[in-house]
Amino acid sequence: MRILSIVLLLVLPPLSQAKNVVLFVGDGMGISTITAARIFAGQQRGRSGEEHQLSFDKFEHVALVKTYNTDAQVPDSAGTITAILSGRKTRMGVLGVNADVPRQDCAKALNNELPSIVELAEDAGLATGLVTTTRITHATPAGAYAHTPDRNWEDDSELPAAAAALGCRDIARQLVEFAHGNGIDVLFGGGRGNFLPDDTADPEYGDKNGRRQDGRNLIEEWQAAAANRHYVWNQQQFSALRAQPGHQWLGLFEPNHLQFEFDRKQDAAGEPSLRDMTRLAIQQLKHNKKGYLLLVEAGRIDHAHHFGNAYRALLDTVALDAAVAQAVSMVDLRNTLVLVTADHSHTLTISGYPRRGNPIMGKVEGPDPLGQTELPAYTTLGYANGPGYKDGYPDLEDVDTTDPNYRQIAAVPLPIETHGGEDVAAFATGFKAENVRGVMEQNELFDVLAAALFP
Ligand SMILES: [Zn+2]
Repeated sequence: MRILSIVLLLVLPPLSQAKNVVLFVGDGMGISTITAARIFAGQQRGRSGEEHQLSFDKFEHVALVKTYNTDAQVPDSAGTITAILSGRKTRMGVLGVNADVPRQDCAKALNNELPSIVELAEDAGLATGLVTTTRITHATPAGAYAHTPDRNWEDDSELPAAAAALGCRDIARQLVEFAHGNGIDVLFGGGRGNFLPDDTADPEYGDKNGRRQDGRNLIEEWQAAAANRHYVWNQQQFSALRAQPGHQWLGLFEPNHLQFEFDRKQDAAGEPSLRDMTRLAIQQLKHNKKGYLLLVEAGRIDHAHHFGNAYRALLDTVALDAAVAQAVSMVDLRNTLVLVTADHSHTLTISGYPRRGNPIMGKVEGPDPLGQTELPAYTTLGYANGPGYKDGYPDLEDVDTTDPNYRQIAAVPLPIETHGGEDVAAFATGFKAENVRGVMEQNELFDVLAAALFP
């Protein structure tokens, strides 16, 4: 019997041909953000911090990724996610269209669309899911389903009349009218306002209305378009969801972006964590026998950096780390690729000569170990530009730089800190993870995803 079963194992193909991909994008999660978040997470556990390992620090395959857009040295999220999901670099600010399309050129956009890997997966009968902490119509998730010459056309109030007349559709409408396979199966994020008419009050914030001017309630339209579609908008409803074959979920937990992880506990209606959304999404998508593709975005690392607030950026990175660990614990790495990357970097730096174990949010204090200077304290973390600029040498004597609301010093005064242009990292484990190696163009990540999903 034993020999027979061994022989059978050798000659029979594996029981399941399903191939799966879980793609994590830390928006704006440059390498300095990863290093700082790693130390932060280790120090949260009462350790020195530098030796700590994030879940994806343990992945076997790593590459550096070149993030530039075709027309920009330092890129934005629209051009970069198009590269990752469609396999072609394109211009800054456009989504799902090629580099021939100037920003806002509707006519050109209509004739130069690029299919995304989410569309290809749906066409092939796989299950697909999008999980994000931003509006579900924001650049990174929209890269999965939208084709538009302007990432800001998220609802029809943003769409110029001339573009609408030519046939360009706003991004929320493109999501609800998505015409591949049976539609994206799991959608968790924010952005209710872009789906509700401007005479309809938001369920969580009664004093806030929807943003749509065409009178359409896209949430109701999405629900009505197929059987077994369930819409949820708060923590309680989310917690009641149970994975069932053939069911589809739309969860919109805020009219705008979700809260930062630091602020999430105070949310009135409650918001699920990135880890819980990831867990439930995988439970649901796993029912598809052909396999699945899940995109999980920690979208607000980027926003906190733009505000010059490293604390919230690091906490959202730690939340991503928890979601990655959750996914790895649930999937079979023999048929599932888990890939963690960023779309672009930010200007965060880790500098000075803080002693080992110095609080990562803290100050560099004491004598310079190289004996070159003896200066008053400054923070280990800083930005090259942004709202934290101070005229002259910063006096931090009475400042608690570990306060969650503290804005790190910036060298150049700007109302909003900018992206950074150096390479980001890609970490991979599981099926075909070995394709992640060396220095890669960002659009080559599409080939990595496709090789795992459609072997
Ligand atoms: Zn950004």
